[in-house]
Amino acid sequence: LYRSFGYDRTNSMGVNLANDQQLQSLAAAVNAAVGDWRAAPLVPGATVQGPDIAVTNPADRRETVGQWKAADSATVELALKNAVAAQEAWDATPAASRAAILEHAAQLLEERMPQYIALCTKEAGKTIPDGVAEVREAVDFLRYYGAQARKLFAPEALPGPTGESNTLHLSGRGVFVCISPWNFPLAIFIGQISAALAAGNSVIAKPAEQTNLIGYYAVKLLHEAGIPEAVLQFLPGDGATVGAALTRDPRVAGVAFTGSTDTARAINRSLAARDAAIGVLIAETGGQNALIADSSSLPEQLVKDAIGSAFTSAGQRCSAARVLFVQDDIADKVTHMLAGAMAELKVGNPGLLSTDVGPVIDEDALKMLVEHAARMDKEAVKIGEVAVDGDAAHGSFFAPRAYALKSLDQLHKEVFGPVLHVIRWKADQLDAVIDAINATGYGLTLGIHSRIDETIDRISARVKVGNCYVNRNQIGAVVGVQPFGGQNLSGTGPKAGGPHYLPRFTTEKTITVNT
Ligand code: GLU
Repeated sequence: LYRSFGYDRTNSMGVNLANDQQLQSLAAAVNAAVGDWRAAPLVPGATVQGPDIAVTNPADRRETVGQWKAADSATVELALKNAVAAQEAWDATPAASRAAILEHAAQLLEERMPQYIALCTKEAGKTIPDGVAEVREAVDFLRYYGAQARKLFAPEALPGPTGESNTLHLSGRGVFVCISPWNFPLAIFIGQISAALAAGNSVIAKPAEQTNLIGYYAVKLLHEAGIPEAVLQFLPGDGATVGAALTRDPRVAGVAFTGSTDTARAINRSLAARDAAIGVLIAETGGQNALIADSSSLPEQLVKDAIGSAFTSAGQRCSAARVLFVQDDIADKVTHMLAGAMAELKVGNPGLLSTDVGPVIDEDALKMLVEHAARMDKEAVKIGEVAVDGDAAHGSFFAPRAYALKSLDQLHKEVFGPVLHVIRWKADQLDAVIDAINATGYGLTLGIHSRIDETIDRISARVKVGNCYVNRNQIGAVVGVQPFGGQNLSGTGPKAGGPHYLPRFTTEKTITVNT
């Protein structure tokens, strides 16, 4: 990929998870990094006051892993002033220099992988393999958008009538606000920021309230790599004080947001209501992702991919499979195998290499899942439930489970956790299944398991989703290779890690000179 841009780079290779020695030493380093982590707004000139807010480990709420301080309104105002003042010089910095800083940050992040995995494990409950994937994806974003900026920002000469020269120039839009989610607290946080910075914008980054520590240390690393402090500021705080104040401010040119569809709509309204230039919103939101399997699927492969897609990261991925539509001819066999494979999953302490599924992010998430399971216990048939090894009295552990449902109507909204719903379909119902999936209005990922090319083509042509995966799992899109993002209720596009993302952070100017 990067070679196609003329750079001798590949995607981040991370860690060889098959090499036991390498893995053990990584786990030891991660678990040794006991946090006394501290986060606060990073806004030049601000005096940060306010109480320390404790961050606890989702796997054991008795363990405090750090403290953070929220930004107040005066700090928000100062951040906006700084961002406006700093943007022009950053925009005038050659794109290649901006890219070089991002590439330096990528290198620092790779060197400090254990420390950042430790943050992901302790603050967000990520397993070690998930932590490795987080760091790799963050590194990939830094390099990918850096490489894209080098390519896109070279002024393009447009041949026209003789006696004139025409050139097209790209520049940053101004101040960008990046509001990122807790489920990819490093990768998506850095992805949004690095695209906005590569394009010449100044950035105010507001992480999800659950993952302020990771965000803070990511911004520190970017400053260390060479991003000026006023060009990238960090504003932790609650959505109402910080997020809403930023998105209604006329000085903000655009917002990159990943989170719920409702919040994306609220941001869109807030941007539109301003008496200001028309703001840009790049939103990546939820999904009601399906996996369609026909009777030609290979059951072992299907079950492995369904489990991986539904339960990896405790199902806390927008891309995760929520509904398996399985053709009735193979449904009994698949259901039986699914229950058997689920029984092998280890749910517990994310710092242990034997753990497959860690805790969910917090007590609110747990409560929502417990309520959903209680409804499913009444309205559906339980196929399997995994025993929890972790300390359920002190951690937010939720046993992954699978339920047989009659129809998609039984799901009213996205269930953001490790619950897989299984619905059977008959040979003449394939179009009805596709219609039902499209009718949810969401359109993020879709899995297809089939060995019939016609069926694969028919489904992939009709289904309105952003990422369609055939005969494999449906999570873990790779930067630059599998551009990621959805349609309709699942997001505005352009896709993260794809060629059209960076241009959305830019504005264009055509210069015509009579020679
Ligand atoms: N990009 C991630 C994946 O492919 C999902 C991102 C998200 O959950 O927001 O699994």
